[in-house]
Amino acid sequence: MHLDAQDDPAIAAEVDRLLARRTRDIRLKGEIKRLFRARIWSQTAKIIRAWMVWVALLDVLTLALNMLILPRGVALSMLLPGAIVPPVATAVVLIWRKPQAPWLQTASLIAGMFLILLSVALVGVSAGGEFYERHLNIMLFVAITAIIIFGIPLAWTVTIAALALGLYLVFQLQNPAIELGSAVAATLFFASGIFATVAARRIMTILAQKTFLFELRDRHRVAELAKANDRLELLARTDPLTGIANRRWMTERLDHLWGSGRCCPNGAAMLMCDIDHFKKLNDHLGHAEGDRCLVEVAKIIQENVRRDRDHVARYGGEEFLLLLPGVNEEEAVSVAERIRKSVEAAAFPNPGSRVSRRVTLSIGVAVQKADDSISPEQLQRQADAALYLAKQTGRNRVLLHMAESSGRKHIGSTR
Ligand code: GH3
Ligand code: MG
Ligand code: MG
Repeated sequence: MHLDAQDDPAIAAEVDRLLARRTRDIRLKGEIKRLFRARIWSQTAKIIRAWMVWVALLDVLTLALNMLILPRGVALSMLLPGAIVPPVATAVVLIWRKPQAPWLQTASLIAGMFLILLSVALVGVSAGGEFYERHLNIMLFVAITAIIIFGIPLAWTVTIAALALGLYLVFQLQNPAIELGSAVAATLFFASGIFATVAARRIMTILAQKTFLFELRDRHRVAELAKANDRLELLARTDPLTGIANRRWMTERLDHLWGSGRCCPNGAAMLMCDIDHFKKLNDHLGHAEGDRCLVEVAKIIQENVRRDRDHVARYGGEEFLLLLPGVNEEEAVSVAERIRKSVEAAAFPNPGSRVSRRVTLSIGVAVQKADDSISPEQLQRQADAALYLAKQTGRNRVLLHMAESSGRKHIGSTR
């Protein structure tokens, strides 16, 4: 199926419009018609090829049988007209093996059908006698099978029906065994049958088109649903204020990274950042200014990490959690210090802060070394503990949680 058909709103609207109609009034046009033809082509071509093989085999078998059971003269007179069918059927099979220009497909099928029907009729005409009318009837039978099973456009079906009836009338008019009136009456009789067959074929085609329209509508709806789901998923994982990931996303990320037991073959660092005396900023400058500050701090943090590898989320009100895979203690502290300095240098006012007149940040850092087996919760607790101490020891600083050695935890400060 056409790749973006399901995304095209014009097609979707047209599909809905067509499906709202009565079934018998469904008419495909333009792009939808083209899509329908492309969709059914291989099935239609397979049926046409199989039918051609059937007709050719039947022809050869009948001619062979006739040679055995009919008088030699009659059988020989059937041979030449009967020999038309196998090469014609083979040519149509070859042309219908893969999609061709529409005119070539139409022309080959209509010409092939005409020659096959003519051949069947001529077999009877040249044998004469009882075979004359019998073969004209066989010719109509052959045409009816094609009309019923070929899923081709109505105009082609009508053309095949008209060819069959035309041949029938022309040869019956020349049939020495019957009168003119009887030839016309027989043609009219069969015409009504063929008309009913064409009408049945038309209903089958419309039902196939309706099924196709349902399929298009389903695909469109599934695509719309998938898009809506993507939007919802994005909303569910994004912090609406800063536009960065939220806590839920970070929790999922950590679970995913630690899914196999421990994260990151080259270790990872976790940075817990918290704005100092943020409540005072809200109190002095208002909540809106506080929001603006959060947006700016989020931007600064993002500018100081590797976009393609590091993970940043707004973890709480004025807390940001960072995970830096493949980073050692020294690098982690250096990134944290860069962030802290950048926030300080941005000089957002925080007149109520007891640390500075500007907005400042405290950061707790914890590192999982390559050979450590430590859960994300443990790492986070360590980063939290380091942050707590950073707050206790004066704020606006970076503290590294040191691994336990000789029974004591060391917290290192960079300021
Ligand atoms: P500390 O230096 O110890 O971290 O002090 P603090 O005032 O920053 O910490 P505290 O946890 O007491 O206050 C955090 C404040 O952050 C409280 C809350 O009003 C504010 N806050 C939380 N979410 C938002 C938000 O989305 N917008 C704004 N403007 N303020 C928020
Ligand atoms: Mg806080
Ligand atoms: Mg704070």
